[in-house]
This record gives sequence, structure tokens and C-alpha cells, in this order.
Amino acid sequence: MNIAQNVELACYLFPNKPALIFEETSFTYQELDEMANRIANGLRGLGIRRGDRIALFLPNIPEFVISYLGILKIGAIAVSINVMFKSDEVSYILNDCAAKIIITTELQSQYVQEADLPQLRHILIAEGTAKKGISLTQIMANASFEARAIEMDRHAPASILYTSGTTGFPKGATLSHSNVLFNSYCANSCYRIQKSDRLLLYLPLFHCFGQNAILNAGLSACATIILQRRFEPERVLQTITDHQITMLFGVPTVFIKLLNMDTSQYNLQNIRYYFSAAAPMPLEVAKNWYQKYKLVIHEGYGLTETSPFATYNHKQKYKLGSVGTPIANVEMKVVDGQGDQVPTGELGEIAIKGANVMLGYWNRPFETAQVMKNGWFHTGDIGKTDEEGFFYIVDRLKDMINVSGFKVYPSEVENVIYQHPAIAEVAVYGVGDRLKNEIVKANIVQKIGYAITEQQIIDFCSQRMATYKIPRVIKFVDTIPKNSTGKVLKRVLRQQSTSQLA
Ligand code: ATP
Repeated sequence: MNIAQNVELACYLFPNKPALIFEETSFTYQELDEMANRIANGLRGLGIRRGDRIALFLPNIPEFVISYLGILKIGAIAVSINVMFKSDEVSYILNDCAAKIIITTELQSQYVQEADLPQLRHILIAEGTAKKGISLTQIMANASFEARAIEMDRHAPASILYTSGTTGFPKGATLSHSNVLFNSYCANSCYRIQKSDRLLLYLPLFHCFGQNAILNAGLSACATIILQRRFEPERVLQTITDHQITMLFGVPTVFIKLLNMDTSQYNLQNIRYYFSAAAPMPLEVAKNWYQKYKLVIHEGYGLTETSPFATYNHKQKYKLGSVGTPIANVEMKVVDGQGDQVPTGELGEIAIKGANVMLGYWNRPFETAQVMKNGWFHTGDIGKTDEEGFFYIVDRLKDMINVSGFKVYPSEVENVIYQHPAIAEVAVYGVGDRLKNEIVKANIVQKIGYAITEQQIIDFCSQRMATYKIPRVIKFVDTIPKNSTGKVLKRVLRQQSTSQLA
């Protein structure tokens, strides 16, 4: 069984149930499956076989979903490329995985430089005019709408999702059919998706959160997905109202943005479930959200390498501030530098083992061995557990600030600053310092109508934290840089600070 077969099953059970809604267009499960079949047959006609890599360099449009399913049906491997990438980045990924076909848009095809891509056979254009390459619509029109997903070894690769490459180059986390299916079912059972649910999906489909933890989770529950190109706050609120959305997924910055908006003209009454993952949720935000909407924001934790779901904060045993407990068939522990488990309550690196852990990084045995030790995937996240086995993510190892040998975790400082009523958004990070090695810096967006000073923030912090944790530099800004998932780009903030000093 794989996720494409799952859609075939949904098509058999509920052919007329709306599966995907995008702008003015709606596709039932049967229509979705038939279009995926056309793509599967079209790709076969182009010579694609089991194990071949097909790249998806697409925004959130239905063609992403049907191409993804079509690729899986013939046992090929779906490679997702960040839609923000430009020529060099796209070439890097296409060469790294030796993709034979790329499916993209007319607009983005300008970044596909065929001269650099000896193994690429075709460019398929899913949106706009096929000035370069072949029209996907044409390929589909000439292909039969009948097909059956082929049986695949459950450990065969299904998809490759590239991590952003903090070690210098992106690495392709390779997920098996079993990883994808298992994670989708787990996500589905954690959220308790009903067939009648309507899930809003604006997070990028090229990212694991959007692809597996929303799209595949929703499809495996035979629910309806309302797809949007990106996160645009007013549009999201309008869609929630118009489509009577019942489940909303986001990263913390999305909830922060919505919390700071006046939503009174919109109807959020149909939402029965909120879920956040991908970055630390500030406690104050979680509390304020509950006060305003009387519903908890459920939290999960995971990484692309873990398909992504690893933990979930269950309704029955919910703990504010925790990311919950490991999901079924997943083990987690907190380890020290030698890989030994640390006592309960002590900080260390989170390690994960189980059905969600990737096969490895595509063609990179060395990098895979660096993170996979004795079957345990080492996450690079710092965290701890409590007596009841709940996990707490403190921060990323690479974001930790070293002030004269003292460790400062940015999320801890952010959590305090969020308690100040004037703060709309804050990002804390370390900048180099000749005397102290690093000092703490905070970029702050103030709420409209407030005019606080640096000193007021420092005074506020000094009553609530040790001196070495207090930000030494505070910068008031209008926005904080984020990636296309909505995560704060601390690396960019650090670079900006360094270049300003230079
Ligand atoms: P990179 O590619 O640089 O490794 P990324 O953000 O692109 O980073 P992802 O796989 O998208 O990689 O994100 C995984 C990371 O997101 C985790 O390592 C963790 O730091 C963070 N994360 C995920 N969920 C949570 C959560 N609930 N609370 C805190 N952090 C989280």
C-alpha cells in the first residue's frame, strides 16, 4: 500500500466527495485519481520507469498534487524543489538526484538551465504557456485516465525533500513509501480528521509539513483540502469564512500574525482544531490564542528527516509548553555528546528511532552516517523530557548563543519578551563579540499604537532573567525575515548583523 493507492481507495469508496478545491475549481476523489492516472500514463509514455526521479518545481497548485500522485503510481520518486529557488539552486538539486523530468511553470522555467543538466530529458509546463518544454495539459490529454498504482516494496523511495543545507549544501532526505504512509496515518489519527473535515492548506507543498502532515494526512482520511498558493493573512481568513474551514494548520509565526489582527469581520466558528509545528511556539502566544478562541493550539514536533511527525501533544494528555509524547512506533531519547541518554529533566540532543525516520540522504552515505547512529537519528535539536515522558524542545543546537561560556537559548528569551504587551513579534539570536564571544541580540516588531524603548525592554528582561541572557542589542524593525514555510531565518539575521558590523 502507498499513498497513491490510498487515493485509489478513497476514489472507490467516495468517488463524488470533493478532494481538492483550488480557487474556482473543485476536484472530486474520482477526478483527482483520474488526473493522476493521466499523468502516470503520460510519464510512462515519456519513458519514465520505477525509481526514476521526477522533480516538482511548482507552487501550491492542483498540478502539484496530481503530479505527485501520478509519479508515485508508477513507482517513480517525487523530488520537491523549493519554489523560491533560482537557477543555481535548481541545477544543484536536479543534478544531485539526476532527475529525468522537471514539472514546473512557465514563470519558473526561466530558472531551469538545460545546458547545466545533462541527464534532464524533459521540462513539463503545468501553468502558463509551454514556450520552453512540453505542456503538461497536452501530455495529460493524450494519456488514458485509467491506471493502477503499481505495488512497491514499502522500503523503496517515494519522495526526496531537500533540507535547507545548513552544512553548506542541501541534502535530499529520502522517504520510503512506508515512511510517507505511516506518517500520514499517524498525523491523521493524531488530528482525528473526519471525512467531513475541510483542511486549509497554504503551507508550501514542497515542504514536508504541507506535503505529508497536511495533504497526505487529509487525503488518507478522505477529507477535503482547500489549497491556497501561499499564506496571505486576509485571504486565509476569507477562505476560512467562505469554505467553512474546520482544521487550520500553521507555524507559530502564522498564529502570531493572526493573533495581532482584527478578525471580527471573519467567521472562524467552524474551526474545531488548530495545529502548529515546525518551530517553537511561544507560551504567551499559545495562552493568548486560547483566551481569544477558546481552543488549544495542538503542537507536534518533527523534521523533514522524520517524515516529519515525531511527537504530538494529545488532547487527553496535553501539557502547555511541551511538544507531547512520541507517536506510535517511534522512540525518542535525549542524549549527550557521546550518544548516552541523559537523566530526566537534563538538556541534551533529541534522538529519534522508528517508522518515521528517513532512508537516508540521497547519495550521501557520509552525511547520513553523521546523523544516523545505531539506528538513531540525531536531530540537532536541544531538548529535555519530564517524569511523564513529555518532550520539550528548547532550541536548535546551531541557534544556541554562547555568552562568555554561558549557554543562552533564544526561544527562552523570546518567551519572556513575548510577555510584554507591546510586542507583536520578536527574534533573538547571537552576534559575535570580541570580549564575550557572542552577545544576545533581539529584533522586535512592536504592536501598532505602542512606542517602547530599548531600555524598557532591557528593564523588563532584567526582572525576569539572568543578566547574561538579556539582549545587549535591540533593533526595532517592521518585519522579521522568514522562509517560505514561515520560519524565522535566524541565519539571515546573523548574517545581516555581521555585514552591518563589517
Ligand atoms: P534545516 O534544513 O536547516 O535543517 P529546516 O527548518 O528547513 O532546517 P525542517 O525539517 O523543516 O528543516 O525543520 C525541522 C526543525 O524544525 C527541527 O529540527 C526543529 O528545530 C524545528 N521544529 C519542528 N517542530 C518544532 C516544534 N514543535 N517546536 C520547536 N521546534 C520545532
